[in-house]
Formats: sequence, C-alpha cells, structure tokens
Amino acid sequence: MELIDRLDRELQSLDARNLRRRLRIVETPCAPQMRVDGRPLLAFCSNDYLGLAAHPRIVDALRDGAARYGAGSGASHLISGHTRAHALLEQRLAAFVAPHLESVRALYFGSGYMANLAVLTALAAPNNGDAAIFSESLNHASLIDGARLSRAAVQVYPHRDTGALATLLAASGAATKIVVTDSVFSMDGDLAPLPALLSLCERHGAWLMVDDAHGFGVLGAHGRGALEHFALRSPYLIYMGTLGKAAGVGGAFVAAHATVIEWLVQRARTYIYTTAAAPALAHALLASLDIIESAEGAARRAHLQMLIGQFKEALTLQRWQRLPSDTAIQPLVIGGNDAAVRVAAALHAQGLWVPAIRPPTVPPGTARLRITLSAAHTHDHVAQLAGALNQFESLLETEA
Ligand SMILES: *Cc1c(COP(=O)(O)O)cnc(C)c1O
Repeated sequence: MELIDRLDRELQSLDARNLRRRLRIVETPCAPQMRVDGRPLLAFCSNDYLGLAAHPRIVDALRDGAARYGAGSGASHLISGHTRAHALLEQRLAAFVAPHLESVRALYFGSGYMANLAVLTALAAPNNGDAAIFSESLNHASLIDGARLSRAAVQVYPHRDTGALATLLAASGAATKIVVTDSVFSMDGDLAPLPALLSLCERHGAWLMVDDAHGFGVLGAHGRGALEHFALRSPYLIYMGTLGKAAGVGGAFVAAHATVIEWLVQRARTYIYTTAAAPALAHALLASLDIIESAEGAARRAHLQMLIGQFKEALTLQRWQRLPSDTAIQPLVIGGNDAAVRVAAALHAQGLWVPAIRPPTVPPGTARLRITLSAAHTHDHVAQLAGALNQFESLLETEA
C-alpha cells in the first residue's frame, strides 16, 4: 500500500537521524528501582517528585474508592459522571490554593493536556470578545495546542523576556488578553519570572495563566506550588496544576475565580465532551493531598531539596552543560542527537535510566539528558548517577 510505504519511509528517516523513539515496558510500580523490559534499572526519569506514585496509603485509597464508586464514571461530568468523590476533590483543591486566588473554585480534569486546552479555548473563544494569547516560547505542547485551537491571535514572546512581553501587551488592543506560561519549564527546569509577569498582567488588564505541572506539590513551604513559592495572590491569576506528577495519581485541575470556572463548565469542550475520570482516582487524590499537606509531605520536599543540592555539587563536568536549574528537573545539554543517545545508552548499560530528549521536544543542537530527581531517591542513588556522569563525560567521544 502506497500510504503505508510513505509512513515507512518517514519512520526510516527518523531512524537515520536518531530521532526514532521507543516504548519501554515497565514491569514494576513507578519508583527509583524498576524492572524494565526484564532488567533492573535505577531510574531518573519520572515526574513523581515526591515519590507518591506507589505510596501505600494512596494505593489503599484507590482500592477504597473503587469499592465505593466502582471502576468507571460511566458518563461525562454534565451528564451523570460527576460523583461525590470529584466534588470533594474540587473543594479540597480550591481550599488548598485559596491563599493565592480570589473567590476561588477548582475544576478537575482527566489530564493536564485537556485542562490547558479547556482554559485557552474557552477563554479566547470568539463569543467572549476578541482575544489575544501571549505565549512563552518554551511552553508545553498542550499550551501551544490550546492556543492554536482557540483560533485567537497568538504572539510568542522569548524565554523569560518580560521586556518583550511588555511591548507586545502595550501594542495590543484585544478585549481579552491572556498571558500563558509554564511555571517550571519542563525541559529546562528553570522558573518563569512570575512576579514580573503578574504585575505586567495587572497593569494591562490581562489574565495570567500559570501551568504549574512541575510546581504543584513540590514548590512552596506547604507544597501549594509556584504561587506560594513567589507569594503571589491576584484575581488575574488562572492556575493549572497537574495531579499525575508530584501528586502521584493522575488528572489535573484549574483553579480560578468562580465565574471563570463556571464558564469552563459551560463552554470548555475538553471538559464537556469527555467521560469523567474514574471516581476512584479522585478519591485516591484526597489521600495524596493529605500527604502533601502533612509533615510527611514537608519532609519529602526537604529531602528532595537536599538531593538537588547534592547532585549539583557532585558534578565535575567540563563539556556537557548543566542548565541553571534549582528544581528537580536537572537537564544536561549534550548537543547532537547521536551523542545524547550514546550517553543515555552508556548509562543504561550501567543500570541507570536517564532519558535522552531530542528535537522536536527541544531545539535542534540542544539534545539533552533530562534527569529528574524524586524524594524517593536516596543520597546513594544520586551519588551513583553523578559518578557515572562524571566518568562518562571524559570517556565518551560526544563531539557533534
Ligand atoms: C505534563 C505536563 C502537562 C500535561 O499534564 P498531563 O496531566 O500529563 O496531561 C502540561 N503542562 C506541562 C508543563 C507538563 O509538564
């Protein structure tokens, strides 16, 4: 078949450029030590920053949720799929982030991808006045897709460049302006300058939508995320937190002024036209929030912070560039695709699992190892990884 042949040729071209990605089969729960395709590996790839994905209390709550509510929700939220578990979770999430938002309500989504599409498409919809979206250049794919799908005018501003954003906002006559940014950039690990972005938004009457996928649960003394980290509070904020990363389960939520949330319920197609997530997931997330808010959560955050410091100090790299990140995302830029793949393979041969991230996820020429640390790692795990990286940098020929 000609159509299949064409796809085969494209796939071969991906192979030739070392851009073909492969699925690996994980046979154990998400944890530092995993069995993958039959092999034990020490993993530095998950976004399970607090080590909650296999926490016994959360697993028990998932089982309890299934006993109470069954397996599936059976319908979308607006038909009959919105259970007590979903409603309780939304109340808990709203209360948790309430110090940072005015008149807040929260809405639970099946995934962060859908939550991001919901906010951008519903708020920038043509029937909501003419809209413009100002999008940070390193934003997550789901924000890029949401902006495209909204059909609003989209202007991309350079990474962390508040001056460029100020110029764009001043020149815009749009009735609805939405500035949208990751809080922690997922492939670089650095933070958006949220205080400066928020004051720009307040001055120009623009929404500031913050995607806190990598901050929720981790940043801030109480784990409330990037808004707590920067001590921000504003009616202009729209907050998106994911619940499959630090919270260890799945799904996501949007928190904002109750009127914004009610608008999403009425208009967001990725909320309306999809089956509600299993109620047991929402029930399990209540247990996850209990832990995030408890002394155990604080201890996990403190341990993670220690591991990040240990990792940065242990590296003695000359050629590979550690990006200036203070978060659990610690990327090492290698450069070429072949080189990055070669380093990842060498680590894998030593039993260390670190993903090589290549274009189009990152710009050409900046292929990198994306190392993620978790509170479930030990100091010994981090020492092993840093030791292997220091050793391989001198052994491997990785010039592009
Ligand atoms: C993971 C991620 C998402 C998507 O969240 P899911 O719940 O995994 O769909 C959105 N934004 C950022 C920055 C992410 O890293």
